[in-house]
Amino acid sequence: MENQEVRVRFAPSPTGGLHLGGVRTALFNYLFARKHNGKFILRIEDTDQTRFVPGAEEYIVKSLEWIGLDVDESDIKGGEYGPYRQSDRKHLYRQYAMQLVDSGNAYYAFDTPEELEAMRKKLEAEKAPVQSYGPATRLTMKNSLTMNADEVKSLLDSGAQYVIRFKMPENEKLVLKDIIRGEINADTSILDDKVLFKSDGMPTYHLANIVDDHLMKISHVIRGEEWLPSLPLHFLLYRAFGWQDTMPQFAHLPLILKPDGKGKLSKRDGDRLGFPVFPMNWTDPKTGEFSKGYKEYGFLPEAFINMMALLGWNPGNTDQEIFTKEELCQLFTLEHVNKAGSKFDPEKNKWFNKQYIEQSPASKLAPYLIEDAKAEGIDVPQDRAEQICELVKDRAKYTHDLWHESEYFFKEPQQYNEANVKKFWKAETPEILTKATEVLKGIEDFSSKNIENIVTEWINANQLSFGKVLNPMRLALAGECKGPHIFDILAQLGKEESLIRIDKAIKGITI
Ligand code: GLU
Repeated sequence: MENQEVRVRFAPSPTGGLHLGGVRTALFNYLFARKHNGKFILRIEDTDQTRFVPGAEEYIVKSLEWIGLDVDESDIKGGEYGPYRQSDRKHLYRQYAMQLVDSGNAYYAFDTPEELEAMRKKLEAEKAPVQSYGPATRLTMKNSLTMNADEVKSLLDSGAQYVIRFKMPENEKLVLKDIIRGEINADTSILDDKVLFKSDGMPTYHLANIVDDHLMKISHVIRGEEWLPSLPLHFLLYRAFGWQDTMPQFAHLPLILKPDGKGKLSKRDGDRLGFPVFPMNWTDPKTGEFSKGYKEYGFLPEAFINMMALLGWNPGNTDQEIFTKEELCQLFTLEHVNKAGSKFDPEKNKWFNKQYIEQSPASKLAPYLIEDAKAEGIDVPQDRAEQICELVKDRAKYTHDLWHESEYFFKEPQQYNEANVKKFWKAETPEILTKATEVLKGIEDFSSKNIENIVTEWINANQLSFGKVLNPMRLALAGECKGPHIFDILAQLGKEESLIRIDKAIKGITI
């Protein structure tokens, strides 16, 4: 195993929008692959047709793209081990199910739903210690262990409905290994005979997952904690196939917990506390229910990756919290993934996004501003958008704030903030601002620094206070007293537009 190429897979079932737990699983697989110069594979596990949701696969692909987790092998990307969608691999699985039947590790079962229900009721009434189809009950049921070969053959020939079940070994104590959790003990006597294959020709998750991991030469299975109970069965399947020597190593990731730490994070927590639980907008095609995504909420993918990476992982011995994707690829180890669940902290996530926006070059932020302006029918050229992003980026928590914080650069104020008027617009203000406009008119080089020098000099020479001049001027320019440095606003608006706005305020504001 030591020198084996690292090949990991993200294996979602397309049963709905990709939730945050899935995103984190994908991310950790991706980081692990990159760290070890390995391959990151996307395999779609769609064998359960009853849970199939149209659009879910496309959504998963698009989400990974937005987050920036580029896959090396997938249905779209191709690869040597395809197909990468299980429904396209349907023809492969029967032979493996048969291999287990032939080696005595699996058997046919013909029980009807009514018979299974009767068994369940009986076990319940008896208060049986293990209430499932397994070592303790299988010999009382209708299957190829209790029927003779001719009976089985004639049932199969007649086209009777059947399933193939795994024959769980009796009373075996297993000691399994998980990279994150260490030794895991399991007792097969409490496990059941899981269905591996159905007469409709479809394998169940367990069979398809093991066969595909084997055929795709997966080296490490990194997945959510909810799959830990399946580990004994998966180990036994590898053993039954005789693939133990090339069995992947397992790592089960901790749960993502609610912000208060009480239980697993759910979609409802997001709705209740006002944060997204999907990477991108998702509309459930069955219920029509719409959920807003991190992307549309205004998160940068880099911030999203950073916040997700720290959900259950930390590099140890450092206070550093901001990590680029490249740094994460370098630093990531499964040994530093926690066993305990990690609390989801929506406030911290906002903080991450704000840090990233502040630190991003304006050239990267400009497209967000351009897009939002366009939605309002305003075309902003890239260079102007960059100048404005530079001015407002430290005020933005979300990408949309770039527009919200700069709208007044593109539209003159339609009204003036009442509280600001009350506070800053005094009886003498029109006179002061009229004088100030004379000063502005005379400035040739209308750059921020130069305006600042000249206006400051004028204020000092006339023993005026900065507040009395600059607050109402800001109100006149932006409609309210917020925003970047006032001289930057003046320079950005330009002399002509600034003068128009000040004049309009002088004429329009009455107290
Ligand atoms: N299809 C499973 C899921 O949706 C994959 C579990 C695994 O990674 O083995 O989570």
